[in-house]
Amino acid sequence: MTDSDDTLRTGRCNCGAVRFTTRGPLRAVVACHCSQCRRQTGLHYAATNVADGRLTVEGADAVTWYRASQEAGRGFCRHCGSALFWKHDREDYTSVLAGSFDQPTGLAMAEHIFCDDKADFYEITDGLPQYARGSPGIVVADG
Ligand SMILES: [Zn+2]
Ligand SMILES: [Zn+2]
Repeated sequence: MTDSDDTLRTGRCNCGAVRFTTRGPLRAVVACHCSQCRRQTGLHYAATNVADGRLTVEGADAVTWYRASQEAGRGFCRHCGSALFWKHDREDYTSVLAGSFDQPTGLAMAEHIFCDDKADFYEITDGLPQYARGSPGIVVADG
């Protein structure tokens, strides 16, 4: 958790068809280097997450949910293609792509996961913890 108050943060996709507001604590940002995140973004995911009750989405009808696995969906704007959300079917929170927030976010990167699947054309050099797959403190799913 990066804060414990009712801080409001806003964000949107590239074209603005999808806008969202989060209220209160957000998880630190986790970079996921798995093959699905690599292919969806061209590099890696960088996402915080927020309890579902603290996330409001405007223009939700413009979000297409792609099922990359049996257990989770990846939400993106169907107009501009911006990756926005990752949602596990059985969890009551939504991962939100950190780069879609309006600046400044007040967020900080915490760690790297699924580093075994990382592309070979870059190195992780920020000194933060790196995990071959998931990390002990982070709920992740294959997908
Ligand atoms: Zn859009
Ligand atoms: Zn991933």
